[in-house]
Amino acid sequence: KEFTDINSLVDEYLRLAYHGLRAKDKSFNATLETDFDDSIGKIEIVPQDIGRVVLNLITNAFYAAPLPPEGGFKDPHYVHKPTVWLSTKKLKESIVVSVRDNGPGIPKDVIDKIFQPFFTTKPTGQGTGLGLSLSYDILKAHGGRIEVQSQPNEGTIFTLVLPLTNK
Ligand code: ADP
Ligand code: MG
Repeated sequence: KEFTDINSLVDEYLRLAYHGLRAKDKSFNATLETDFDDSIGKIEIVPQDIGRVVLNLITNAFYAAPLPPEGGFKDPHYVHKPTVWLSTKKLKESIVVSVRDNGPGIPKDVIDKIFQPFFTTKPTGQGTGLGLSLSYDILKAHGGRIEVQSQPNEGTIFTLVLPLTNK
């Protein structure tokens, strides 16, 4: 573990995810909104591991963010704005990192399985189904946890809770 500036780490992986998706698909576009808590300071984590968790959450969120249908929208008044919100927050005894999207949400029968290794709803070749199970283990190894809340047709929010070691 190393004392790490979690805001810089998250920011770095955010760029990585965005540019990675952009490189694969030139038409990829989503609005990003970030809200970093500047009072966090450095926390003791394995930066590469937490980075992987963040990268997967952001990639999943971008993937879920609705893309415009081919030929455009039927309703001319509909404003298409796929958005991913990312925030960090210092609480009394923990740091909370959250990644929210306005995608389709996760159906009830699916949500119970998303932390299982190899579970994926993505087409063959597009997902390994390992991201969230790995994330679960990484957060556990940090004495923290990962949680999910999802609302069909509204979106999904994943929350990472990391214990504060530098109180
Ligand atoms: P992969 O991304 O390779 O499919 P993950 O473990 O990262 O594997 O995610 C497992 C599954 O959880 C996804 O295939 C998808 O069904 C669901 N999922 C994860 N994040 C989201 C999200 N933000 N919105 C909707 N579904 C999601
Ligand atoms: Mg994934």
